[in-house]
Amino acid sequence: MTTVSVTYEEALTRYEPVFGLETHVELGTRTKMFCGCVTTFGGEPNSQVCPVCLGLPGSLPVMNRTAIEYTIKIGLALNCSIASWCRFARKNYFYPDMPKNFQISQYDEPLCTDGYLDVSVNGQTVRVGIERVHLEEDTGKSLHIGGATGRIQGAEYSLVDYNRAGIPLVEIVTKPVPGTGSQAPEVARAYVTELRDVLRSLDVSDVRMEEGSLRCDVNTSLSPVGSGVWGTRTETKNVNSLRSVERSVHSEIERQAAVLDEGGRVIQETRHFHEDSGETTSGRSKEEAEDYRYFPEPDLVPVAPDAAWVDAIRASLPELPSARRARLIAAWSLSDLEFESMRNGGALDVVEETVVAGASPREAQKWWMGELARRANDSGVEVSSLPITPADVARVSALVAAGTLNDRLAREVLDAVLAGEGTPDEVVEKRGLAVVSDDSALLAAIDEAITANPDVAEKVRSGKVAAAGVIVGAVMRATRGQADAARVRELVLERLS
Ligand SMILES: [Zn+2]
Repeated sequence: MTTVSVTYEEALTRYEPVFGLETHVELGTRTKMFCGCVTTFGGEPNSQVCPVCLGLPGSLPVMNRTAIEYTIKIGLALNCSIASWCRFARKNYFYPDMPKNFQISQYDEPLCTDGYLDVSVNGQTVRVGIERVHLEEDTGKSLHIGGATGRIQGAEYSLVDYNRAGIPLVEIVTKPVPGTGSQAPEVARAYVTELRDVLRSLDVSDVRMEEGSLRCDVNTSLSPVGSGVWGTRTETKNVNSLRSVERSVHSEIERQAAVLDEGGRVIQETRHFHEDSGETTSGRSKEEAEDYRYFPEPDLVPVAPDAAWVDAIRASLPELPSARRARLIAAWSLSDLEFESMRNGGALDVVEETVVAGASPREAQKWWMGELARRANDSGVEVSSLPITPADVARVSALVAAGTLNDRLAREVLDAVLAGEGTPDEVVEKRGLAVVSDDSALLAAIDEAITANPDVAEKVRSGKVAAAGVIVGAVMRATRGQADAARVRELVLERLS
């Protein structure tokens, strides 16, 4: 245990952080990797199993072609080389949630190698190298019952659910990322965010961190500034939110700096991240390399994707987030920060759909990032899951542009749409909301207000123009705020000149 504590800023004056990420992604194929069982999340425990994924004697695996295709897609999107020939391997280890006592994975012959992903942090681009992308099968899930923490320690008994066993799992491993200094935690988070967006655009996974379909292990090490020697790394397991990716790197930098400052040695080990404290605790030591006794899987033929198939997959790639980013920044004249805040706020898709529905980019941003973001925040939901469509927002924006609504009325319409009162047009109709722009209607209201306030009218006539506010106010009340105040003022002054 360390006794000194080191602040983040101090740590960075003496040490250079290096991080790397191993990300597991459950593919969204309809069936499992080596059998026909369905992969739907949340099924009754052990209802989506068969002899193959339970590892019963005599059963034989058959490769899922869609899983291979998805993995190649991911590799191409991450600028990797695609192997023209590779094999699956058996990784032997014993764990109750792994029914075969080995996992079919890839070892020294991954399907995709040597790529990169560019990520943007505070307007700067950092290139994160991709070491490999390989395909394997997921394990089952253990449930520890009776303990206080849900961990195996202190539990009375454990249950195993094999529904997840055999779901295709892609592992994406980065190269070590040096040179990001104090921004290391942010770059790590930005990488996972960008990777998630790439995977989502490819439509190969639902990438839900909270459901475990995207899981990260974060490696962190420190090297004394200027030494050129990389330190021992720790591996923080199953960090399950974007914010936790950032916090786990941050806390490991502080912890390792304290160990090194005391003249101690960072131990190569896995660590667990705790959401509540934002700290990591020691897990399994990795000082001795585990021997998984890998060997080529004898029950499967090698994978040999022919060049024409790979070319066809490459041609089918959608617009990737980096290209979309460049396109939208140019088309909408955005700054990097405006773009990032929209993306981080989860508003990019709805803003773009609102623009497609006819609103100007500025108006679409204004409503989604302003009023609607506030309301989403108040009710604790994503802005994109508010009960209002981009078409509704575009319609409100059009009504403002046409002068039918002013900003105050537009907000009232948005609230009513959110409350389920119908489309913007229905709300305007039902509530009789529309700016009174017809001068004759306004003049009638103005004449009434003048008659009701003869003293004020007299003051204005004698040159005290400021007094006109009383009459303007009366007209605004009479029209329930639906008049354009500036126009009312003009008309009042004309009337009393
Ligand atoms: Zn099965």
